[in-house]
Formats: sequence, structure tokens, C-alpha cells
Amino acid sequence: MLSYQEFMAAGNVTNFPSGHENAGNRTLARAFKRQRVDQSAQRMEALKKMLSESKTGRQTLEFLEEKGSKMIFEKMKYYGYFSPDKNIVALNPRMSNEDLAVTMVHEIRHAWQDSQMQATDPKMTPKAFLASGFAIEADACAAEVTYAHEMREKNPKIWDAHQKSGYAPMSTAFEKTFKETGSVEQARADALMTWYKLPVKASYEKSYVQYMGYIARALKKQKEMEPEYFSKNTSTKKMVNAFFKDYDGKPFMTDPKPLEAPENLSLKEEHAKKLAKALIPYMAKYGRSAEKLGMDKVAVVRPNGEKTTGALIIQQVKDEQKLTAALKKMQNGAIR
Ligand SMILES: [Zn+2]
Repeated sequence: MLSYQEFMAAGNVTNFPSGHENAGNRTLARAFKRQRVDQSAQRMEALKKMLSESKTGRQTLEFLEEKGSKMIFEKMKYYGYFSPDKNIVALNPRMSNEDLAVTMVHEIRHAWQDSQMQATDPKMTPKAFLASGFAIEADACAAEVTYAHEMREKNPKIWDAHQKSGYAPMSTAFEKTFKETGSVEQARADALMTWYKLPVKASYEKSYVQYMGYIARALKKQKEMEPEYFSKNTSTKKMVNAFFKDYDGKPFMTDPKPLEAPENLSLKEEHAKKLAKALIPYMAKYGRSAEKLGMDKVAVVRPNGEKTTGALIIQQVKDEQKLTAALKKMQNGAIR
């Protein structure tokens, strides 16, 4: 079974392989017009130097050294990605140095997270998978903002570039809390929770659902039972403890509750239905209830804003399938 990153890299998903991908339509459109793309080793060194000018950036580089991840330039549709399977951090050379410095902080943060605890693990229940997937993206984005904040005096262009990106609400939230409280930890936590309100969250929902669908279909086809999949109910508290700390080990957020709030641990209805369709045959084969998968804890937002749960969506899809089957039977009967 492919890992989430391998699955993405194999091109099974049309949108985001990982990381800091989305903000960029505006920046990308502008950047693609540039003819020359600098992929030199000197440029990589210049980016590393940009990181070395702040504490978070320096600690990011120290971790990179320790992990031994290879840094490469790769032309792609995204800002960058981290591949745990290949231990590679890739950056899109078409982007500006300001964008790439924060992308480096983001992608190496993913490498660090991977050393703390495996997120997006297909052995996790869908609930835990979604909670951890969202948590690592929000955390990597909050690490970027912390770096940009530390660099505000030395290189204000980094903060300004962030403020022009699709992730601007996060730096705005950071700034507001930092002004009010003077606490970097509190500011970082507030920036992190702002990620859940960004439109980009829906893109991650989509790719996580596609991946879990792939796992569920593969398991259904297999002859031997592999009941360990979708079964690990990793607690959100464990995720918070593993991820939400700075590189000195100081936590900036300890309460797991916000991550489980229905406005945060949620799927759009279309994504929830896709996931339900993929999970139903698997659930039948392995005797798993929606509750066992944690789907009663996953909120689902209908297009009109109404909320329901993943468990109720599974029931709804089952009922629809039963009705369709009954109608088919009746029609077949009528033909005879
Ligand atoms: Zn990311």
C-alpha cells in the first residue's frame, strides 16, 4: 500500500502533493512569466543564509542537517514538498526568494513532524487521519509565520510577501495577538487555528479523502484481512503534544479541544459523501461501524452551512444505495 506521499507523488491526486501549495495562484501567474529560472547551488545557499538570520530559521537548518534531507529545486505547480520516503525537500525555483525561504521553513517543519510522529498514517481511523493531517498543515504554516515575524526587522519583504499570499489571515492573527499579549506562543497558536478558516483547507480535505478512498478500495479487494488499517485511534492530545512545540521543545499550544471542534474537524458534504462511498464496502467486509472509525466525531458541512456528522452521512449514503437497489429490482421485475 502506498504511503500518502507516494500516493500523491504518483499523480493519483490532481491537486496538492504536499505543503505550501495553494496561496500561489497570484504569485504563480506572475512567476511563470519570468523566463530564467535560477536553480543554482548558490541560490540554495542564499536561501539557507536567509534562514540562518533568525532563531526558528537556524533551528530549521540544524534539523535539516541532523535529518540529512536532500534539498533540491524542482519545477512544479506548487511551492514545494517534503518526501519522507525519499528524504527530499523540494522547492519550486520559479518562486521568489521570500516565498522560498518560508516554504523551506514549512517543508522542513514537515520533516521534523515526521520525526515526532507519523501523521497521515493509513493505520489511523479516518477521524485521527483527518485530525493529524489538518494539524501538520496548520502547524507548518504557523512555523512559517513565526519565522516571518522573527525576520520583520532584518528582512521585512518576507512578512510583506506573506501578507500578500492566500495565507495572510494567519500572519494577521499572529500580529494581532502578539501586539495584545506580547506572547509569541499565544500568537503562534492563534495563527495556527486561523489555518482552519482558510479556503485551502478544503483542498487538503479532498486529497485526504482521495487517499483514504484508495486505501479502503485496496483493502476491500484484498483476500486476506488487514484489520489494522483504519483502526488506530490516535488521540488528538497526542498529536498536540507531538507537534505543537518550538524547536526548543517549548509548547505553544496544549489544549486539543479546538482541533476537535466541529468547525475544525470537518469535511465538506461532497468530500464526506465520497469518503462514505469508499468506506461502506470496507466497513461491511471488516465489520466496522461508523463510530469505530470515529466518523461520528467528524463534522460535515452542507452547502447551506448546516452541520451534520460523518456517521450520519454514511447512514444517508447507505439508505440511498438501498433505495437505488430496491428500485432497480422493481424495474427488473416490471420488465419480466
Ligand atoms: Zn504542508
